Amino acid sequence: MSRGTPRLSNPHTASFYNGGTQCGAVRGTDATDAPATAFTWWARLAGLARRQAQRLLPQCCALCVAPVPEGLICDACLAALPTLAPACPRCALPVPGGNVCGACLADPPPFEATLAAHAYAFPVDRLLQALKYQGRLALGEWAGVALAQRVRRALPERSLRERTPLLVPLPLSAARQRERGFNQAQLIAAAAARALALPLADALARPRATAPQAGLPWQERLRNVRGAFVARRRLDGRDIVLVDDVMTTGATLRAAAVAATAAGARRVDCWVVARTLPPRPP
Ligand SMILES: [Zn+2]
Ligand SMILES: [Zn+2]
Repeated sequence: MSRGTPRLSNPHTASFYNGGTQCGAVRGTDATDAPATAFTWWARLAGLARRQAQRLLPQCCALCVAPVPEGLICDACLAALPTLAPACPRCALPVPGGNVCGACLADPPPFEATLAAHAYAFPVDRLLQALKYQGRLALGEWAGVALAQRVRRALPERSLRERTPLLVPLPLSAARQRERGFNQAQLIAAAAARALALPLADALARPRATAPQAGLPWQERLRNVRGAFVARRRLDGRDIVLVDDVMTTGATLRAAAVAATAAGARRVDCWVVARTLPPRPP
């Protein structure tokens, strides 16, 4: 088991993350995952165009000046990106020993497990901000591949194939999507789904805009996003993985998990590119 691999007290969760089968498999991709197809094709074309451009134009690492034959970030910078210490398997908060944290014991979240590829610290924070706020869409591919690599380190291939979780990006409200022009979670989920050969669907919607979570205290964040998500379709018996760029308090993912469960999801997990670390004591 690699460093930081979740140790799981919940046998249902442990089965998924250690390759067990007693939960019963959900195999294959059903036809209702089709709404993602057009987006997947668009993402594939974008990837192809980027690879062609990389062959024709010299590329520099997004973080330093080193040339990179493929990808956006050089191997040295990739190796130096901040990772998480052993973390709570439910919420990915770093916890000594990697046991379930006190917050998850006291108030279990409506999702089973969380995997985070990186700590939300320099320079991962800058990369995700450049994706989100500067429209550097190619960073979505980097983030999705980073997430896929984290998943492969944590989950045996057999477990992934048997469960075939449906990747669901956290949606933006229609207004926010119009303003930004894209949804970073969608780009990340599409890249991760492609790298892991897993189905993808825009199965959740966010019918109302909510105030930005940043700066709100924990209870306010929960209130702010309560009921913010609805399912676009039934998810009966499916294993759902919610994909997002950053998990801070987890309030948004909680609200999305509640919507997925209400639509019939058998279990809900969260995969995020980066996990915000708690503030250091003064
Ligand atoms: Zn570099
Ligand atoms: Zn926790």
